[in-house]
Amino acid sequence: MSWLKEYVRTIPNYPHEGIMFRDVTTVFQDDVAYPKMINQLVDFYKDKGIDKIAGIEARGFILGGAIAHTLGIGFITIRKKGKLPHATYSEDYTLEYGQDALEIHQDALNEGDNILIVDDLIATGGTAIAALKLITKAGGKVTDACFIIDLPELKGSKLLKEQGCAVYSVAEYEGL
Ligand code: AMP
Repeated sequence: MSWLKEYVRTIPNYPHEGIMFRDVTTVFQDDVAYPKMINQLVDFYKDKGIDKIAGIEARGFILGGAIAHTLGIGFITIRKKGKLPHATYSEDYTLEYGQDALEIHQDALNEGDNILIVDDLIATGGTAIAALKLITKAGGKVTDACFIIDLPELKGSKLLKEQGCAVYSVAEYEGL
């Protein structure tokens, strides 16, 4: 079992009946767990030739910014619709509980950059696949994606791997 599970708070039936919400704010606020988790991810990616990190709003920013800073590389923001001020590409996607759109600035990266996608959790993969499509539209190559938590039964990490993207997660949980 991953060391991290001791720090993740699970809230049953939030935001909807039947969802086990994996609350990672309890990881972020911990003086030991947050830096330990960032160091683990940095160690994993330090020799993998990543050019930039793309974090997905909002929890992906808390992880991805720290990883990018430590690796000494740039950070790209993938944001909810209407938040980015300059020319964007947009992708609609379906969440485990809802529908939304994500956007990236058209000039966010250099042609051919190797990009690492960062988010807190992967479930169905709708969010991460939308991010992958945006990065591809902007000229980048998504070689890797990492998450604090994977819910493998929802098959999102499998979908990403089928797109040629390697996936690393700190902990896995059974079920929804
Ligand atoms: P998905 O697009 O289905 O892979 O869902 C991933 C996104 O939804 C992530 O940004 C998560 O923050 C959020 N999410 C989905 N399911 C959960 C869950 N069970 N607990 C916490 N966050 C979740």
